Amino acid sequence: MIIVLAPWATADHAHKILDHVKTLGLDAHQLQDEYRMIIAVMGDEQPAIDAAFETWAGVERVMPVRQPFQLASREFKPENSFVRVGGDVVFGGDEVHIIAGPCAVENEATALAIAEAVKAHGCKLFRGGAFKPRSSPYAFQGLGEEGLRILSRVREKTGLKIVTEVLDPHDAELIAEHADMLQVGTRNMSNFSLLKTLGEIRKPVLLKRGMSSTIKEFLMAAEYILANGNPNVVLCERGIRTFENYTRFNLDISAVPAIKRLSHLPIIIDPSHATGQWRLVEPVALAGIAAGADGVMIEVHTDPQHALSDGSQALKPERLPGLIEKLRGISGILGRRASFG
Ligand code: PEP
Ligand code: MN
Repeated sequence: MIIVLAPWATADHAHKILDHVKTLGLDAHQLQDEYRMIIAVMGDEQPAIDAAFETWAGVERVMPVRQPFQLASREFKPENSFVRVGGDVVFGGDEVHIIAGPCAVENEATALAIAEAVKAHGCKLFRGGAFKPRSSPYAFQGLGEEGLRILSRVREKTGLKIVTEVLDPHDAELIAEHADMLQVGTRNMSNFSLLKTLGEIRKPVLLKRGMSSTIKEFLMAAEYILANGNPNVVLCERGIRTFENYTRFNLDISAVPAIKRLSHLPIIIDPSHATGQWRLVEPVALAGIAAGADGVMIEVHTDPQHALSDGSQALKPERLPGLIEKLRGISGILGRRASFG
């Protein structure tokens, strides 16, 4: 950490701080310019102890040198992490992926029809919520366990990898038996007991950004999963709340290259929940891949007009080939390969 003393601080202030640094068993280097003294403290940063220096007389501010997230940071691990899902799908390498499927598992016939359609277009990962985090308690909450059994049968019949959301730590083990990747939704990004449980379970996790979270808070949430033993985390930028309300949320496109710089973890984008409008899904998906994302999560429904949730943002399967062709083109320009189509 760097301790910046106020211009009016005296030599006595500095000595007291240096003595305290010594009692903590840390080394310090001093730098004096014509205005003020700066003290650089070497050794492991401990945010609570470091922040306490803010209260010492003569201190103007304390600046950490390292990021608050460690295991998730590029400083800690400079090379990209690879997250393997269901055996042969790898996030974080050259390949760009599509996770496609309905918002919710509504019934077996519809889930299977959508799965067959996305598979026919070359997608390898199927999404669908069995437990749905709805803003209204009166809205369709998902089929629960029955939805999980349907997802297992979809996997058996199609070979697609299953991505589905976990809302409650108590359901995590059960969901892990049916899914290849457990999704944490935006409303649960800061549910720390859920994150700890997913750290212990060690199945790949798709962690969505909280709609009101900063990039640092997002990476700290990932840190919870990593620190509890699970290195298999894929991040998902899904839009944040801003003053703009034409779209459902605002996809923070710059979060993609920013997170690539700050972290070694793969990151995908979700243009469906970000925009809330099917017409905007394709251009925003392309922008996400152009910005360096490792994939996109897209809601697809064979009958969006009658979908039980999020029909307005679902693409019909016949829209997939056009999207896939363009995604493949952009991936190629960036020297990457599409795992679909
Ligand atoms: C979802 O992907 O089904 C979902 C509810 O997304 P989010 O948590 O981003 O709103
Ligand atoms: Mn949805």
